[in-house]
Amino acid sequence: MIIHDAQFLTSNSRADLCPDPKLPEYAFIGRSNVGKSSLINMLTGRNGLAKTSASPGKTQLINHFVINDNWYLVDLPGYGYAKVSKTSRAEWARMINYYLLNRSNLMCVCVLIDSRHSPQSVDLEFMEKLGEEGIPFVMIFTKADKQSTAQTKALLAEYLRKMSEIWDELPRYFVTSAETRLGREEVLTFIEEVNQQ
Ligand code: GDP
Repeated sequence: MIIHDAQFLTSNSRADLCPDPKLPEYAFIGRSNVGKSSLINMLTGRNGLAKTSASPGKTQLINHFVINDNWYLVDLPGYGYAKVSKTSRAEWARMINYYLLNRSNLMCVCVLIDSRHSPQSVDLEFMEKLGEEGIPFVMIFTKADKQSTAQTKALLAEYLRKMSEIWDELPRYFVTSAETRLGREEVLTFIEEVNQQ
């Protein structure tokens, strides 16, 4: 897919105030610092389109971008901040649950995972919940340039082994780097294919 236009549309602190669900939507989420903003900027080819995540405790927002006038890219607030209060965590969960369960145009959730870290329960639990709710998702491994291909492969194998304890069918996954643009075409082609279904 060629990205000829990428525009910021809105930021919402309430999932029920998201824009009219008139375009197919792809949501990006992951632990804080996973590389979400960098990946969004790399995919859209617009540096600075997605801002570095808000610091812990700041308002958590759902950011909508319109791509090529025909799909929404959504930057969801991340999870797993170590220092976040119980109240903020509960607010995040309420907002995200509402969004995930009610967004009629949501085609796929892209769960970002740092390719250097062994499987983390917070990610596994989040994906398990998506599965239970029947929400389609893919895994996007980030920052692959930070280690050797062999190390990434080993991590992937570990992840897939762990996932196969829970899942009969493993989710689709992509290996990416915002630095080298690895995986860009694959992710964009995937979105294009889903859009055409
Ligand atoms: P976010 O908090 O998930 O939005 O993460 P950011 O996109 O702000 O990235 C967090 C840090 O990881 C920043 O210092 C980025 O420069 C770095 N980073 C993100 N993606 C990559 C990548 O693909 N390769 C490398 N080497 N660094 C990355």
